[in-house]
Amino acid sequence: MTGKSPRRVPVRRCTGCMNGFPKDLLFRIAKSGGKAVYDEKCLIQSRGAYVCRNPRCIAKAIKTGRAGRSIGADASEVLAYLSVLAGGENK
Ligand SMILES: [Zn+2]
Repeated sequence: MTGKSPRRVPVRRCTGCMNGFPKDLLFRIAKSGGKAVYDEKCLIQSRGAYVCRNPRCIAKAIKTGRAGRSIGADASEVLAYLSVLAGGENK
């Protein structure tokens, strides 16, 4: 799984594990109105950070603070919310 990228989907890097994934497998966090928000539909035209849809990866992203740094806002609240989204599917 190295070198080649899928033809259609752009690859983005997860701020938790630093691996590259197709964009639609990741959550996008963007900066809006001076704070970090979950850009669910990728509509926010600003710098974005990406994280896997994996609670462990999200926890790692919170710990490193890398996502927030890359967009220039505190992303820990958004990441905590995404962590619930990622793990909250067991009914
Ligand atoms: Zn990851």
